[in-house]
Amino acid sequence: MPWLRLQPGQVANLELREASARRRTQHWVDGRSVECAGNGCPYCAGGSTPKTVYSLQVTWEGSEYTWEMSEAVWRQFCELLPDAARRIGAVVRLKRIGSGPQTRYDLELVRPVSPAQDTAQNNGKDTQAILVPFTLEDVRKVVHEELLGQDFGQMIELIVLTALENWYADAEKE
Ligand SMILES: [Zn+2]
Repeated sequence: MPWLRLQPGQVANLELREASARRRTQHWVDGRSVECAGNGCPYCAGGSTPKTVYSLQVTWEGSEYTWEMSEAVWRQFCELLPDAARRIGAVVRLKRIGSGPQTRYDLELVRPVSPAQDTAQNNGKDTQAILVPFTLEDVRKVVHEELLGQDFGQMIELIVLTALENWYADAEKE
C-alpha cells in the first residue's frame, strides 16, 4: 500500500479501513527510517532517541493508502474516535500545515459511524437493508392509519409522505 503523502496546506478526507493501528518504534538514520531493535539497538546506544509511529489503512479519493502518523496525531485521532468499534467507515479530515520540522497536522471528524452502519458492517450486510426495513407502501399505510381522524391529518399525511418518497428515492440512488 502506498504511503499517504500530503503537501503543505493540502487537505484529505480519509475513510478508515481498519480499527486499530500498527505501532512501530523507529530511528531516522541517513534520511530513512530504521526499526528500533529495542534492547541492544545500535542506534539507541549511539544516542539516537527512537520515535513511535502509528499506521492505519485508509481510502482517499478511491485509492488505498497507509497513513502513518506521529504519536501526537495518533493521540488526537484517539480523542476524536475513542471507540475502536466505531472507526471503520468513519471519515476524518487531515490537513498538513507547514513543512520540514515545523510540519503539523490538523485532524477533524467529518463523518462518524452510526450504530446502524456499525451493525451493518459487523454483519457484513448491506447498510440500506437495515436502514430501510419497510417498503414505502408499508410506511404509507401506517402513516395513513395514524393520521385518520386527526385535525389536519390529511395535510400532515401529504407532507410526511412527500418527505418519505424523496427519502426513499435518495436511498435507492445510493
Ligand atoms: Zn533503537
